[in-house]
Amino acid sequence: MSDGALQNLIRMLSRLPGLGPRSARRVALAMLQKRDSLMRPLGQAILNAADAMQECEICGNLDTSKSCGICSNPERDRSVICVVARVSDLWAIERTGAFKGVYAVLGGTLSALDGIGPDDLGIPKLIARASDEQVKEVILGLNATVDGQTTGHYIAEQLADTGVEISRLAHGLPVGGEMDYLDDGTLTTALRARRAQ
Ligand code: ZN
Repeated sequence: MSDGALQNLIRMLSRLPGLGPRSARRVALAMLQKRDSLMRPLGQAILNAADAMQECEICGNLDTSKSCGICSNPERDRSVICVVARVSDLWAIERTGAFKGVYAVLGGTLSALDGIGPDDLGIPKLIARASDEQVKEVILGLNATVDGQTTGHYIAEQLADTGVEISRLAHGLPVGGEMDYLDDGTLTTALRARRAQ
């Protein structure tokens, strides 16, 4: 591996969440020391996932099919939609096993500062889904940040005339907190103790 190849690897690794240049160097070195048992299989796993994973057409989850395992599962309750900002939030809720409904992944939150509006987040699509008469409840599973709450209020406003019940995650969600970092117990409590908007 030429120095350029190593530098390129470190540069790419340091773009990953949670990895700065220092930890990227450590990761690169660890991989190089386990070239056949770790580095090559990892490279292959990355390529396989890049080819196989796709966005669910209904909810925005990532899975190997166009309709994800949750949306295509007949056991899931389609009358309850939990709105989350990111796939990582969906996965955090799924880890608790406490939610049996379906999801809508927005892909972010409204932000005047970053110029992110309702159309960028597929909110019209969510409103259309939630307006289906079989939908009884929309849970706002959004982070307790200013943008998260603004987004929740906007969605609640848009759904005000539909008769759909709007609830939000309750106890245990720290103000300014990121859902993905909550332990499963806290998130389960927040989900069970959700309250009407
Ligand atoms: Zn889906």
